[in-house]
Amino acid sequence: MATNPAEVLALPKPAWAADEVGMLYDMAHRFMSEEIAPRYDEFEKNEMVDRESWLKAGAAGLLCASMPEEYGGSGGTFAHESAIIEAIGHVGVDGFGIGLHNSIVAPYILHYGSEEQKKRWLPKLAIGELIGAIAMTEPGAGSDLQGVKTRAEKDGNQYKVNGSKTFITNGQLANFIIVVTKTDPEKGAKGTSLIVVETDEVEGFERGRNLDKIGLKANDTSELFFNDMRVPTSNLLGHEEGQGFVQLMQQLPQERLQIGTGAIAMVERALALTIDYVKERKAFGKAIIDFQNTQFKLAELKTEATIGRVFYNDCVTRHINGGLDSVTASMAKYWLSDLQGKVVDECLQLHGGYGYMNEYPIARMFRDARVQRIYGGTNEIMKLLIGRSL
Ligand SMILES: Cc1cc2nc3c(=O)[nH]c(=O)nc-3n(C[C@H](O)[C@H](O)[C@H](O)COP(=O)(O)OP(=O)(O)OC[C@H]3O[C@@H](n4cnc5c(N)ncnc54)[C@H](O)[C@@H]3O)c2cc1C
Repeated sequence: MATNPAEVLALPKPAWAADEVGMLYDMAHRFMSEEIAPRYDEFEKNEMVDRESWLKAGAAGLLCASMPEEYGGSGGTFAHESAIIEAIGHVGVDGFGIGLHNSIVAPYILHYGSEEQKKRWLPKLAIGELIGAIAMTEPGAGSDLQGVKTRAEKDGNQYKVNGSKTFITNGQLANFIIVVTKTDPEKGAKGTSLIVVETDEVEGFERGRNLDKIGLKANDTSELFFNDMRVPTSNLLGHEEGQGFVQLMQQLPQERLQIGTGAIAMVERALALTIDYVKERKAFGKAIIDFQNTQFKLAELKTEATIGRVFYNDCVTRHINGGLDSVTASMAKYWLSDLQGKVVDECLQLHGGYGYMNEYPIARMFRDARVQRIYGGTNEIMKLLIGRSL
């Protein structure tokens, strides 16, 4: 029987992963295996998961799992989101952008939206009628977010928005985009505001190319253009303008932790696949696992994966108790995504030439892993943030 990625490390389950979170993991795993995995090659070819799959995920209760029930969510915590992202990683359908929709976009509405905004948007995000994205990065502003140039000028009861964004996850499918703008460019970070764009409702909004990436092929990543785009002032997040930078800083720990979720799940999958492969494959009259080098390599990787999982579990425990600071979240993002890169590379090596062939899942995992060290703040920026705490 194939090694189960969820059991490859043989660690006890943390308290937060028990009971209903465990049941949600099983349900998400079944959904991803039955609904998404069989069509994944098609989604990679189309460079996006189709809208129907989003609606199905909504109907299955996999969208907005941590949003309160009164707004259409499932009333869970980040532990529930973790269960869903882990299932995606363990099944190997990493390009399905639910993690961003659930644990990055929806929380902005919950935490900074007015009661009216929450009632209007969250139930639609929970059923997949709205697909979420967050647009921070611009051609001239990535790591240095203070350099955002997209301008939102008040004009009566509307904002007139001009500018462009790039590398936006879910950028082709999303019809609900939180856009980082400057409402007062003179004030720098304090002149930054988050404005929600319902793309079906506005003029002056244009999508650019679905960008041609080396990995995460099933996820659409796009340019967006705003040309005198008119958005109602009631789509501002927060009571007043100028709150955007603080809002971003407050939400970044969860964004960073969820990159760590995907990383640790994919580390476990890479290990499980590779253990099975080296038991089957033979060279010099014996199985690859019988070479001491293979055992030593896998022993090292399993040890580091265990360290990573224990650290990750502790971060989640702290986060759901409200105590995950941004420095520790930066450590989780940087260290777990680095670990993912290392483990996937070593596991590919143990597959030999087959590891380089796209028909073997480890090849796709190798391509998909690379971006984890770049987005959500590069790992260099994470070290900068950790360095400031010294
Ligand atoms: C597939 C994908 C999906 C993405 N999804 C989204 C999304 O949904 N929304 C969104 O807004 N953005 C998204 N991004 C953008 C991503 O967050 C940025 O690419 C990232 O923050 C880096 O910015 P940059 O590309 O402009 O690189 P740059 O900022 O130009 O950095 C180039 C290099 O310089 C280094 N560097 C920069 N500043 C420093 C410094 N002070 N000290 C040391 N080194 C430094 C960086 O670490 C990097 O190695 C996505 C990117 C990709 C590739």
